[in-house]
Amino acid sequence: MTLTMDWQNLPGGGNIEDRRGGGGIPGGGIAVGGVGGLIIALIAMFFGVDPSAILGGGGSAPTTQTRTQTAPGEQDQAYQFVDRILGSTNTVWSGIFQQAGRTYTDPTLVLFSNVVQSACGQASSAVGPFYCPLDNKVYLDTSFFAQMDRRLGGGGDFAYSYVIAHEVGHHVQNELGISDQVERAQQQARSEAEANGYSVRLELQADCFAGVWGNKVSSLANLTEADVRGAINTATAIGDDTLQRQGQGYVVPDSFTHGTSEQRVRWFMTGFQGGDPNKCDTFGQNVRL
Ligand SMILES: [Zn+2]
Repeated sequence: MTLTMDWQNLPGGGNIEDRRGGGGIPGGGIAVGGVGGLIIALIAMFFGVDPSAILGGGGSAPTTQTRTQTAPGEQDQAYQFVDRILGSTNTVWSGIFQQAGRTYTDPTLVLFSNVVQSACGQASSAVGPFYCPLDNKVYLDTSFFAQMDRRLGGGGDFAYSYVIAHEVGHHVQNELGISDQVERAQQQARSEAEANGYSVRLELQADCFAGVWGNKVSSLANLTEADVRGAINTATAIGDDTLQRQGQGYVVPDSFTHGTSEQRVRWFMTGFQGGDPNKCDTFGQNVRL
Protein backbone atom coordinates (compact mmCIF):
# COMPACT_ATOMS: atom_id res chain seq x y z
CA MET A 1 0.00 0.00 0.00
CA THR A 2 1.38 3.34 -0.99
CA LEU A 3 -0.50 6.44 -0.06
CA THR A 4 -0.26 9.85 -1.54
CA MET A 5 2.40 11.39 0.65
CA ASP A 6 4.75 13.51 -1.47
CA TRP A 7 7.94 12.60 0.34
CA GLN A 8 9.98 13.70 -2.66
CA ASN A 9 9.14 17.29 -1.72
CA LEU A 10 10.94 16.99 1.59
CA PRO A 11 14.49 18.26 2.01
CA GLY A 12 17.07 15.47 1.95
CA GLY A 13 20.59 15.67 3.21
CA GLY A 14 20.43 13.41 6.23
CA ASN A 15 23.58 11.77 7.51
CA ILE A 16 23.18 8.25 6.22
CA GLU A 17 25.72 5.52 6.76
CA ASP A 18 24.94 2.79 4.25
CA ARG A 19 26.13 -0.53 5.64
CA ARG A 20 23.72 -2.68 3.66
CA GLY A 21 25.14 -5.84 2.26
CA GLY A 22 27.90 -5.92 4.86
CA GLY A 23 26.12 -8.53 6.92
CA GLY A 24 27.82 -7.56 10.15
CA ILE A 25 30.02 -9.95 12.06
CA PRO A 26 28.18 -13.24 12.56
CA GLY A 27 28.48 -14.50 16.08
CA GLY A 28 30.71 -11.60 17.02
CA GLY A 29 28.39 -10.18 19.61
CA ILE A 30 30.14 -7.88 22.02
CA ALA A 31 29.36 -7.97 25.67
CA VAL A 32 27.04 -5.16 26.55
CA GLY A 33 27.00 -4.36 30.16
CA GLY A 34 26.71 -1.36 32.40
CA VAL A 35 25.46 1.87 31.02
CA GLY A 36 25.16 0.84 27.37
CA GLY A 37 23.14 -2.24 28.07
CA LEU A 38 20.98 -0.42 30.54
CA ILE A 39 20.18 2.45 28.24
CA ILE A 40 19.31 0.32 25.26
CA ALA A 41 17.00 -1.67 27.48
CA LEU A 42 15.40 1.54 28.69
CA ILE A 43 15.12 3.25 25.36
CA ALA A 44 12.75 0.57 24.26
CA MET A 45 12.66 -0.11 20.61
CA PHE A 46 9.84 0.88 18.36
CA PHE A 47 8.88 -2.67 17.60
CA GLY A 48 7.92 -4.54 20.73
CA VAL A 49 10.77 -6.90 21.23
CA ASP A 50 12.60 -8.68 23.95
CA PRO A 51 15.57 -6.42 24.79
CA SER A 52 17.76 -9.51 25.08
CA ALA A 53 17.58 -9.70 21.29
CA ILE A 54 19.70 -6.57 21.10
CA LEU A 55 21.68 -7.05 24.28
CA GLY A 56 23.03 -10.24 22.81
CA GLY A 57 22.15 -12.27 25.86
CA GLY A 58 19.76 -15.15 26.24
CA GLY A 59 18.17 -16.81 23.28
CA SER A 60 19.16 -16.12 19.77
CA ALA A 61 16.97 -13.71 17.91
CA PRO A 62 15.37 -15.07 14.79
CA THR A 63 17.14 -13.88 11.71
CA THR A 64 15.33 -12.76 8.63
CA GLN A 65 16.06 -15.79 6.51
CA THR A 66 13.27 -14.96 4.15
CA ARG A 67 14.68 -11.56 3.32
CA THR A 68 14.53 -11.13 -0.41
CA GLN A 69 17.18 -9.30 -2.30
CA THR A 70 15.94 -6.03 -3.64
CA ALA A 71 16.91 -4.70 -7.00
CA PRO A 72 19.40 -1.84 -7.02
CA GLY A 73 16.65 0.55 -8.14
CA GLU A 74 14.51 -0.40 -5.18
CA GLN A 75 17.40 -0.02 -2.77
CA ASP A 76 18.07 3.37 -4.18
CA GLN A 77 14.48 4.35 -3.60
CA ALA A 78 14.62 3.13 -0.02
CA TYR A 79 17.78 5.19 0.46
CA GLN A 80 16.18 8.24 -1.14
CA PHE A 81 13.08 7.87 0.99
CA VAL A 82 15.01 7.54 4.23
CA ASP A 83 17.23 10.45 3.23
CA ARG A 84 14.25 12.74 2.63
CA ILE A 85 12.53 11.80 5.86
CA LEU A 86 15.72 12.08 7.93
CA GLY A 87 16.65 15.36 6.24
CA SER A 88 13.22 16.76 7.04
CA THR A 89 13.51 15.76 10.70
CA ASN A 90 16.83 17.65 10.79
CA THR A 91 15.17 20.75 9.38
CA VAL A 92 12.19 20.53 11.72
CA TRP A 93 14.14 19.90 14.92
CA SER A 94 16.93 22.35 14.11
CA GLY A 95 14.26 25.02 13.71
CA ILE A 96 12.49 24.12 16.94
CA PHE A 97 15.77 24.01 18.90
CA GLN A 98 16.90 27.29 17.36
CA GLN A 99 13.69 29.02 18.40
CA ALA A 100 14.39 27.86 21.92
CA GLY A 101 17.97 29.17 21.76
CA ARG A 102 19.47 25.71 21.58
CA THR A 103 21.52 23.83 19.02
CA TYR A 104 20.36 20.57 17.53
CA THR A 105 22.97 18.04 16.45
CA ASP A 106 21.74 15.93 13.54
CA PRO A 107 21.74 12.19 14.20
CA THR A 108 23.28 9.65 11.85
CA LEU A 109 21.11 6.91 10.40
CA VAL A 110 22.71 3.57 9.69
CA LEU A 111 21.08 1.46 6.99
CA PHE A 112 21.95 -2.19 7.47
CA SER A 113 20.95 -5.65 6.47
CA ASN A 114 20.63 -8.60 8.81
CA VAL A 115 23.08 -7.73 11.57
CA VAL A 116 24.71 -4.51 12.73
CA GLN A 117 27.23 -3.36 15.30
CA SER A 118 26.30 -0.32 17.35
CA ALA A 119 27.88 1.31 20.38
CA CYS A 120 24.98 -0.28 22.27
CA GLY A 121 25.88 -3.76 21.09
CA GLN A 122 25.18 -6.01 18.17
CA ALA A 123 21.64 -6.15 16.89
CA SER A 124 19.84 -8.21 14.29
CA SER A 125 17.10 -7.01 12.00
CA ALA A 126 14.65 -8.90 14.18
CA VAL A 127 14.71 -6.21 16.84
CA GLY A 128 13.33 -3.63 14.44
CA PRO A 129 14.57 -0.05 14.14
CA PHE A 130 16.30 1.36 17.20
CA TYR A 131 18.25 4.34 18.46
CA CYS A 132 21.55 4.05 20.27
CA PRO A 133 22.12 7.07 22.56
CA LEU A 134 25.81 6.18 22.96
CA ASP A 135 26.67 6.89 19.32
CA ASN A 136 23.68 9.12 18.45
CA LYS A 137 22.69 6.82 15.61
CA VAL A 138 19.40 5.45 14.38
CA TYR A 139 19.68 1.89 13.04
CA LEU A 140 17.30 0.74 10.35
CA ASP A 141 16.98 -2.29 8.13
CA THR A 142 14.56 -1.16 5.45
CA SER A 143 13.21 -4.70 5.19
CA PHE A 144 11.33 -3.70 8.35
CA PHE A 145 8.98 -1.74 6.12
CA ALA A 146 8.01 -4.89 4.25
CA GLN A 147 7.56 -6.58 7.61
CA MET A 148 5.22 -3.79 8.68
CA ASP A 149 3.07 -4.43 5.63
CA ARG A 150 3.08 -8.18 6.08
CA ARG A 151 2.72 -8.65 9.79
CA LEU A 152 1.36 -5.45 11.20
CA GLY A 153 -1.03 -4.41 8.46
CA GLY A 154 0.21 -0.87 8.81
CA GLY A 155 1.99 0.18 5.67
CA GLY A 156 2.16 3.33 3.65
CA ASP A 157 4.82 5.94 3.20
CA PHE A 158 3.73 8.06 6.11
CA ALA A 159 3.63 5.03 8.39
CA TYR A 160 7.22 4.26 7.36
CA SER A 161 8.28 7.82 8.02
CA TYR A 162 6.58 7.71 11.39
CA VAL A 163 8.91 4.84 12.31
CA ILE A 164 11.93 6.99 11.42
CA ALA A 165 10.50 10.08 13.11
CA HIS A 166 9.86 8.06 16.28
CA GLU A 167 13.50 6.94 16.42
CA VAL A 168 14.61 10.52 15.78
CA GLY A 169 12.30 11.40 18.69
CA HIS A 170 14.58 9.30 20.91
CA HIS A 171 17.52 11.32 19.60
CA VAL A 172 15.69 14.54 20.52
CA GLN A 173 15.20 13.12 24.02
CA ASN A 174 18.91 12.38 24.17
CA GLU A 175 19.76 15.92 23.01
CA LEU A 176 17.49 17.39 25.69
CA GLY A 177 18.94 15.23 28.44
CA ILE A 178 15.58 13.55 29.01
CA SER A 179 17.03 10.09 28.40
CA ASP A 180 19.61 10.65 31.16
CA GLN A 181 16.98 11.91 33.58
CA VAL A 182 14.83 8.87 32.89
CA GLU A 183 17.77 6.55 33.37
CA ARG A 184 18.52 8.09 36.75
CA ALA A 185 14.87 7.87 37.76
CA GLN A 186 14.76 4.24 36.76
CA GLN A 187 17.83 3.42 38.80
CA GLN A 188 16.01 4.79 41.82
CA ALA A 189 12.72 3.09 41.01
CA ARG A 190 11.41 0.88 43.76
CA SER A 191 9.79 -1.66 41.50
CA GLU A 192 10.00 -3.02 37.99
CA ALA A 193 6.53 -1.66 37.31
CA GLU A 194 7.68 1.84 38.23
CA ALA A 195 10.78 1.52 36.04
CA ASN A 196 8.65 0.24 33.16
CA GLY A 197 6.35 3.20 33.62
CA TYR A 198 9.23 5.52 32.78
CA SER A 199 9.98 3.51 29.65
CA VAL A 200 6.37 3.83 28.53
CA ARG A 201 6.48 7.60 29.03
CA LEU A 202 9.71 7.80 27.06
CA GLU A 203 8.15 5.82 24.21
CA LEU A 204 4.96 7.85 24.18
CA GLN A 205 6.98 11.05 24.12
CA ALA A 206 8.90 9.77 21.08
CA ASP A 207 5.51 9.11 19.44
CA CYS A 208 4.44 12.65 20.29
CA PHE A 209 7.70 14.07 18.88
CA ALA A 210 7.04 12.05 15.69
CA GLY A 211 3.64 13.74 15.58
CA VAL A 212 5.29 17.17 15.92
CA TRP A 213 7.44 16.36 12.91
CA GLY A 214 4.33 15.19 11.00
CA ASN A 215 2.65 18.49 11.73
CA LYS A 216 5.59 20.51 10.41
CA VAL A 217 5.89 18.61 7.13
CA SER A 218 2.19 18.00 6.51
CA SER A 219 1.66 20.72 3.93
CA LEU A 220 5.00 20.22 2.16
CA ALA A 221 4.40 16.47 1.89
CA ASN A 222 0.70 16.90 1.12
CA LEU A 223 -0.33 14.62 3.93
CA THR A 224 -3.89 13.42 3.62
CA GLU A 225 -6.21 12.01 6.21
CA ALA A 226 -5.55 8.57 4.72
CA ASP A 227 -1.81 9.01 5.32
CA VAL A 228 -2.39 9.91 8.93
CA ARG A 229 -4.81 7.04 9.35
CA GLY A 230 -2.12 4.70 7.98
CA ALA A 231 0.31 5.89 10.64
CA ILE A 232 -2.33 5.53 13.31
CA ASN A 233 -3.04 1.98 12.17
CA THR A 234 0.64 1.30 12.61
CA ALA A 235 0.64 2.80 16.09
CA THR A 236 -2.36 0.67 16.90
CA ALA A 237 -0.76 -2.45 15.48
CA ILE A 238 2.36 -2.07 17.55
CA GLY A 239 0.95 -1.00 20.88
CA ASP A 240 2.08 -3.35 23.60
CA ASP A 241 -1.46 -4.45 24.33
CA THR A 242 -2.00 -5.58 20.74
CA LEU A 243 1.37 -7.31 20.60
CA GLN A 244 0.82 -9.06 23.87
CA ARG A 245 -2.67 -10.16 22.90
CA GLN A 246 -1.25 -11.61 19.72
CA GLY A 247 1.61 -13.24 21.54
CA GLN A 248 0.04 -14.52 24.73
CA GLY A 249 -3.68 -14.09 24.46
CA TYR A 250 -3.77 -11.76 27.44
CA VAL A 251 -2.24 -8.49 28.49
CA VAL A 252 -0.02 -7.79 31.47
CA PRO A 253 -0.16 -4.02 32.09
CA ASP A 254 2.87 -3.89 34.40
CA SER A 255 5.19 -5.26 31.79
CA PHE A 256 4.25 -2.67 29.16
CA THR A 257 7.25 -0.80 27.89
CA HIS A 258 5.83 1.04 24.87
CA GLY A 259 2.34 1.99 25.93
CA THR A 260 -1.02 0.73 24.81
CA SER A 261 -2.30 1.28 21.28
CA GLU A 262 -4.73 3.91 22.54
CA GLN A 263 -1.92 5.78 24.33
CA ARG A 264 0.38 5.66 21.31
CA VAL A 265 -2.30 7.02 18.99
CA ARG A 266 -3.31 9.70 21.48
CA TRP A 267 0.23 10.99 21.97
CA PHE A 268 1.05 10.86 18.29
CA MET A 269 -2.07 12.94 17.60
CA THR A 270 -1.19 15.36 20.43
CA GLY A 271 2.05 16.14 18.65
CA PHE A 272 0.51 16.08 15.20
CA GLN A 273 -2.38 18.41 15.94
CA GLY A 274 -0.51 21.11 17.79
CA GLY A 275 2.99 20.75 16.35
CA ASP A 276 4.24 21.89 19.74
CA PRO A 277 6.83 19.71 21.48
CA ASN A 278 6.02 21.38 24.78
CA LYS A 279 2.70 19.53 24.65
CA CYS A 280 4.58 16.21 24.61
CA ASP A 281 4.54 16.24 28.35
CA THR A 282 4.27 12.51 28.99
CA PHE A 283 6.23 12.84 32.23
CA GLY A 284 3.88 15.40 33.71
CA GLN A 285 6.50 18.10 33.69
CA ASN A 286 7.61 20.59 31.12
CA VAL A 287 9.63 19.31 28.20
CA ARG A 288 11.24 22.78 28.20
CA LEU A 289 11.79 23.60 24.58
ZN1 LIG B 1 10.93 3.86 20.78
